Amino acid sequence: MFIRLILLFAIIAILLWLIKRLFVEDPAPREIEHHTKTRSENMRQCKFCGVHAPETSIVLVNGNPYCSQDHADRDQQ
Ligand SMILES: [Zn+2]
Repeated sequence: MFIRLILLFAIIAILLWLIKRLFVEDPAPREIEHHTKTRSENMRQCKFCGVHAPETSIVLVNGNPYCSQDHADRDQQ
């Protein structure tokens, strides 16, 4: 009876370890992909507020980079 209880605990422990391993290993490749994406993206500084924003979200007005259309409009005034 006591051996059966130990065996049951061992099975539960192995199952928990397997479940934990599945959940831990799954998001890892996505995180690496995300890091390489952000690293390869060029950062531009907003002429109005000085914030660094990715080049894809930068608004260019008269060749000047801005973090948003709002800052581009405010700098023109
Ligand atoms: Zn700005």
